[in-house]
Amino acid sequence: MRLLADLHTHTLASGHAYSTLTENARAAAAGGLELIAITDHGPAVPQGAHPWYFWNLKAAPSVLDGVRVLKGCEANISPDSENGIDLPDVVLEVLDFVAVGFHPTTGFDKQDRKHNTESLLRVMGNPFVDMITHPGNEHEFPLDLDRVVQAAVDNRVILELNDHSFAPTSARAGSGYREREFAAAARDAGAPVAIGSDAHYALHVGRFDAAVAAAEELGFAEADLVNRDAASVLAFLTSKRERIRLDAGGVWSWPEVM
Ligand SMILES: [Zn+2]
Ligand SMILES: [Zn+2]
Repeated sequence: MRLLADLHTHTLASGHAYSTLTENARAAAAGGLELIAITDHGPAVPQGAHPWYFWNLKAAPSVLDGVRVLKGCEANISPDSENGIDLPDVVLEVLDFVAVGFHPTTGFDKQDRKHNTESLLRVMGNPFVDMITHPGNEHEFPLDLDRVVQAAVDNRVILELNDHSFAPTSARAGSGYREREFAAAARDAGAPVAIGSDAHYALHVGRFDAAVAAAEELGFAEADLVNRDAASVLAFLTSKRERIRLDAGGVWSWPEVM
């Protein structure tokens, strides 16, 4: 299986990642990817990006060195906001891609399965939400798998199979088995599934060998994954809603602007 799009990458703006948007895009181009989404952490994570950062992503190229760059976020489920997310709908609306996930210190530490599930279901009902990141984080943020998968079907929200959850150095180490359970249940129910690298450094962009191996063991084919190529991602996103800034940054090639 060869996947040509990575829907989960972080830059310096996340506060604990170590490459720029440009470096991520150039690494993607070198690796033969067609598309990446820049999904920096929302403001509820310590040193996460400010809402203005997301609002102004229109300043960055939409295509760089031949790679489609989706301007997105990995926002947080947040108990303290109007929409249950740490970015307001007026910001989510202008993004090309909206991922949301649970992270430590953002209001859900030591909450129970029912509370987490109900908070997440509310977020999944938001028409601007496209993907839930690492849903299998059972140890830190337990969820009711059946209810989340049903919500993914009902709202056409992608459930991510997160490569980093399989890494022994991950904060979510040991949760790979639960990521697999979510992916298998999602596919069987007809919910969209994508594999993301969760890269926090440019050379990890498009590297998702562990998650791909897990998907292959589960019998996934490329056709079962939204991120198989750029056309598949763009068809999925534009069928959900209009992406008003998809081409706002223009088409650029780095050497020409040096
Ligand atoms: Zn995350
Ligand atoms: Zn992430």
